[in-house]
Amino acid sequence: MNPAEWLLRSARKTPDAPALLHGVEVVASYGAFAERAGRIAKALREEWGVWPGDRVALFMANSPTYLELLYGIWFAGAVAVPINYKLHPREATHIVDDAQARVVFVDGARAGVASFLGGEEGASVVTPEILAGELPRHTAMDAPHPMRAEDLAWLFYTSGTTGRPKGVMLTIANLHAMVFAYFVDVDAVHREDAALYAAPMSHGAGLYNFMHVLRGARHVVPVSGGFDPSEIADLAPRLGNVSMFAAPTMVRRLCDYAARSGYDGEGIRTIVYGGGPMYVADIERAVAQFGPRFVQIYGQGESPMTITALSRETIAERSHPRWRERLGSVGLAHSCVEVRVADEAGHPVLAGETGEILVRGASVMAGYWRNPDATAETLRDGWLWTGDLGALDEDGYLTLKDRSKDVIISGGTNIYPREVEEALLTCAGVREVSVVGRAEPEWGEEVVAFVVAMEEEGLEPDQLDAHCRSQIARFKRPRHYVFLEELPKNTYGKVLKGELRRMADEVAGRG
Ligand code: AMP
Repeated sequence: MNPAEWLLRSARKTPDAPALLHGVEVVASYGAFAERAGRIAKALREEWGVWPGDRVALFMANSPTYLELLYGIWFAGAVAVPINYKLHPREATHIVDDAQARVVFVDGARAGVASFLGGEEGASVVTPEILAGELPRHTAMDAPHPMRAEDLAWLFYTSGTTGRPKGVMLTIANLHAMVFAYFVDVDAVHREDAALYAAPMSHGAGLYNFMHVLRGARHVVPVSGGFDPSEIADLAPRLGNVSMFAAPTMVRRLCDYAARSGYDGEGIRTIVYGGGPMYVADIERAVAQFGPRFVQIYGQGESPMTITALSRETIAERSHPRWRERLGSVGLAHSCVEVRVADEAGHPVLAGETGEILVRGASVMAGYWRNPDATAETLRDGWLWTGDLGALDEDGYLTLKDRSKDVIISGGTNIYPREVEEALLTCAGVREVSVVGRAEPEWGEEVVAFVVAMEEEGLEPDQLDAHCRSQIARFKRPRHYVFLEELPKNTYGKVLKGELRRMADEVAGRG
């Protein structure tokens, strides 16, 4: 069933209920939200030739319009391709091309992407001005185009460890499983609630829209468009019943702010955290400051939000003998999936032993878009190989031991070293490079690059930084450069990243 049906049902039930808010200002009721989505669908069909199954990309920062566009896309039976707005236009263009998108919606700040897209076959770039000019000429489409369980709804681009980003194919059935499991395993949602989008809607935070549309609740985009603790402390008491997704670094920043200002969490009902490791000391402090408002989820694009959850009760249950141990876990398997910790052959290991985390169930992606090799490697006999390492205890609580290999998680966002390395290697004067993460209190991890220069060239960090800015998103660029005569390697010639991590820690001490 098309998710736009949920929007129409809420619009029929409570047409005047506030739906979309910018800060505390209501910008659309449910009736208006549904009507705009229907018009967008009509314009997509008639102006830009979008047919069911076509891909439509969004390269824009958080805004109430984001949700109207998402529902307009589904109304038309098309597939949404949200792109992280922090990406470089060149990176966004790669995604638009790979998805073979027919249209890309951009906001003012990202209209420059148009200069990277070209050719007869290229996507139409639709700016807010173009949209505002077209919409009045169209009436709303009569009914959402029917969508079946296996139809693609969301193409979720995640960076690949081996180069280019891959498009995770999420079907209607995947999203249904995710939504229903949220109600069962994570949190209830009521009409009085407000989903606050303080993290990018192109990623996990955007997925919260479904539960809130289904319940006819409010959707609030902070005026800053992102995460600002003082803004949240001001907004939440005025809105009431706020639910939000926050990466562990955001929770930490909210706690720091609370310690300074005395804010006690008023107005916030639920903070769902995940996307990166939450340290026990941090969640203990957060619960001490804000009380039982936290739920943890562990998931990945390939099984969105739905691998395990650590419930509000478990997080707050101090008297339980294993409370602290459980606080360090990511909780129990979601209702819609089986979770297994396996050895390299895929056989389950014993409780307490570490192995790769495998997941099977209704929320697991259909595969990677136009990438059968990567699909075959990741989905085997119906099991999703997550690339994460962990251990299950006898009660079924999963603890993540390590992220597989070398992914750097900074501010809750994955940074793939290979991508940074490839960018740096295109800079004149660089012979070899290897990138690792180093622990950093505010962001979780920061990027450190080890560079071997060509003998005759004298390379400067500023030069490398300028090069990175022209190639990749700002948040991926290295914060430190260390110049070496050669990279440490094993006998097979492979770079020893563990060794580099130790070196990165050492140089951290020297600033
Ligand atoms: P993404 O596909 O970008 O959402 O990234 C998913 C990855 O983030 C997972 O494979 C984990 O490595 C990590 N991750 C997600 N949730 C958690 C969590 N609750 N605790 C620790 N790491 C997490």
